[in-house]
Amino acid sequence: MDRLACYDCGETYPFGDAARCSCGEPLWFETDADAVSWPDAGGQDTDGTEGAEGDVAGRGSLWRYESVLPAATPVGLAAVAGGTPLLRAPSIEPASGPRMHLKLEGTNPTGSFKDRGTAVGIGRLDGPIGTVSHGNMALSVAAHAAADDREAVILVSEDTPDSRLAMIAQHDPHLFRVRGDYGRLYDDTLERDLGVAFLNSDSPLRVAGQKTVAYEICEAFRPDAPDAIVLPVSSGGQASGVWKALRELRGAGLIETTPRIYLAQAARCDPVARAFRRGAARVEPVTGAPTAAVSINNADPPSGNRALAAVDATDGAVVSVSEDALLAETDRIASDAGLSVEPSCAVATAGVRELTESGELDRDEDVAVIVTGSGYKYGTPGAEAPPVREIDREDVPAAVRELSA
Ligand SMILES: *Cc1c(COP(=O)(O)O)cnc(C)c1O
Ligand SMILES: [Zn+2]
Repeated sequence: MDRLACYDCGETYPFGDAARCSCGEPLWFETDADAVSWPDAGGQDTDGTEGAEGDVAGRGSLWRYESVLPAATPVGLAAVAGGTPLLRAPSIEPASGPRMHLKLEGTNPTGSFKDRGTAVGIGRLDGPIGTVSHGNMALSVAAHAAADDREAVILVSEDTPDSRLAMIAQHDPHLFRVRGDYGRLYDDTLERDLGVAFLNSDSPLRVAGQKTVAYEICEAFRPDAPDAIVLPVSSGGQASGVWKALRELRGAGLIETTPRIYLAQAARCDPVARAFRRGAARVEPVTGAPTAAVSINNADPPSGNRALAAVDATDGAVVSVSEDALLAETDRIASDAGLSVEPSCAVATAGVRELTESGELDRDEDVAVIVTGSGYKYGTPGAEAPPVREIDREDVPAAVRELSA
């Protein structure tokens, strides 16, 4: 599995020869059709991390699908990425909407789906690794590098808050706060003579790792497939991975129908949704406004066109979620489903709400929603002083009894 291919023009390249296609579009790994099959034995608990020396966690992982990955199962932290649970949460399902199955990516080692891509990167590459991020990807790369005793280079933007820096810094990477056009760093780090392999948002290794989320979802629905998969989109890397998986599974006959891919963005920064509404095949950069959905505010997504192609090929759609709706949804998920998520994750279930209202999704359908991360890392937006009742110690028993009276 050493060839990269362009989804758009079909050009192929040996791995390592090109960072992107000569047509400008991103590349992904080609997968041998005969490598695509459901892993034979056992469920997610028993398989997957098998052979990973030192793994005592005993839970499933993305390495269950090693035969379709461009890396061998690594040891250590990377061996336990993926294998996340699927949770039905009827309390937050929209009335007359579809059944929502939440794929809880916040249970990954560093609390987001980014660990899937990092794990495959660690499994494949030697030496120092790096990334351009001040969010979940920075945390993921820093943590996995620490676990594997490697150097990590993390390039954060100038305005990264100290609390974020501290969280990343705890894993001891080389941390650079970069002045100047942060958006352009993506291109700068594609150069191959830096001595550091940069695992950016839509690098082929990352997309390969991220496709495993859709393998897990479809395997859980065997022998059927869900009607749709809904996820937030920023760079388009994860959407690309989901589409890649569905193409592989459909190509091998492991699913009989292809789930529709629905993408959700924050209305304040929604280049992919705008292109979708225009009926365009190409995403144009936008001037985004600040949003609470900080992990998905990419105004010029490097895999935007590919994400749009994924939607088009599967008859899906892209929705924009207003700031009010995404904040309300973040609250709802916490108070009604018991899950703390970032606003960047809440756009997906808010998207399901919109798609139900517009009649795209209905109550007979099963929808897998990728809950991309956790809310425990970044605090609760807008809640500096939650309403807490102050009471004296001797009044506690009476106050508690009163609750059930
Ligand atoms: C990175 C990230 C996304 C967006 O994924 P892309 O691959 O950049 O489209 C969504 N949610 C969370 C929590 C993220 O960290
Ligand atoms: Zn191409």
